[in-house]
Amino acid sequence: MAPPVILFDRIPDDGLQQELVLDDAWLAGVFEGTGLMTVPGAPGHASVRLDKDGRNVFLSGRFEVTAQTDCVACLERMTLTMSADLVLHLEPAGSTKPGKAAHEEVELSRDELDVDVYTDDRIDLAHWLREAILLEAPLHPRHEVCPVKLEMPAAPPLARDGIDPRLAPLARFIKKE
Ligand SMILES: [Zn+2]
Repeated sequence: MAPPVILFDRIPDDGLQQELVLDDAWLAGVFEGTGLMTVPGAPGHASVRLDKDGRNVFLSGRFEVTAQTDCVACLERMTLTMSADLVLHLEPAGSTKPGKAAHEEVELSRDELDVDVYTDDRIDLAHWLREAILLEAPLHPRHEVCPVKLEMPAAPPLARDGIDPRLAPLARFIKKE
């Protein structure tokens, strides 16, 4: 089940707190195309708070999600936990003040704050949580310390007699003479 859509009018004046379970089915959809997979029986969690300021909404909270994927270094399956704080200022769509070039003003405010828009009085928590989770998804996931060493080291280890094994055939040839 996806995280809910909150209608603006349903947010009380003193704010709305939501504790959400991010289940396998929804997370599987979020992970699609990322190489991440859900960990069965380990749903994610999000704690989200919505506060109103006029028609603006301040979204804050935190999420934590566990996923599994293949380590890029050793190719073994690994489990990783992604978590981050949520901080987002939402303005109703089309609320840009007239007078200035609308485009310019929106660009400026989005750079300064984490400002985005909501439309039709709907704050779609699934949409914002999906974005926040994908931002935390590692591009090149790898273990901090891989459990398995690669079978092809960059340089062959020295043989017991101190001769580089790459030179061993040459050494035998010299001994014969
Ligand atoms: Zn690894």
